[in-house]
Amino acid sequence: MPQSSVRIADLTWYDFAARVKDDPIVFLPTGSVEQHGPHLPLFTDVILPVAVAEAVAAKLGGLVAPPVTYGYKSQPKSGGGNHFPGTLSLDASVFISLVRNIINELARHGVRKVVLFDGHMENQWFLVEAADLALRDQRAEGVHDLKIVKLGYWEFITKATEAALFPEGMPSWELEHAAVMETSVMLHLRPDLVRVDKIPDHPAASFPPYDVYPFDTTPIPPDGVLSSAKPASAEKGAIVIEQVVPDIAASLAKVFGKPTEA
Ligand SMILES: [Zn+2]
Repeated sequence: MPQSSVRIADLTWYDFAARVKDDPIVFLPTGSVEQHGPHLPLFTDVILPVAVAEAVAAKLGGLVAPPVTYGYKSQPKSGGGNHFPGTLSLDASVFISLVRNIINELARHGVRKVVLFDGHMENQWFLVEAADLALRDQRAEGVHDLKIVKLGYWEFITKATEAALFPEGMPSWELEHAAVMETSVMLHLRPDLVRVDKIPDHPAASFPPYDVYPFDTTPIPPDGVLSSAKPASAEKGAIVIEQVVPDIAASLAKVFGKPTEA
């Protein structure tokens, strides 16, 4: 009887081999080690996609691979910037190679359905590149049935959930870094890691419509949080999770032709 955990890391090789025979969807969460203000941990972009991916995988009989915990460089307009202490980032070429390599390893062992489950906006185009190169590698190996989905879990948040999160209107998803959504979901999933007394409340950052390098750090709020996190709550976090988990599962069930189990 193979282990029923969704985590590949919990399985034996016998369990893994047995589970892969059923052609499961395999999730690869990708995140970052990145400052998330004075109130959230550096691992926020890993904790969130891993938790959401595990919940979605449980609905689809899927498996979750150990996450890619380092990500592409934090950008000032979406992550506060790479200069904050504790933000440990990879060069794009390293990140692309790493993800491409992991996809090829999964494919080598028979996995044909892969979801790149992103928790860090800055990774997105490099995930596209990794998927494209891995598909090319696999075609050269004679594998033509590998299918890859790339998604950011926040992209599934509906207008109705957005209205619940931001009754006064939201600034933008870029400026949501370490703000209402991430803080709320962390309060729901990992309240032990949120410094509630440090939740910041200040106006959203305002950036010019161009970028200068080295980046001008003046418009970046000194705490690294790009808009107010004050309206965050565990209840709002629960609303996000209860909405996105079934919606992502339904989308993936459709893409991969799989039934949802729960
Ligand atoms: Zn984040």
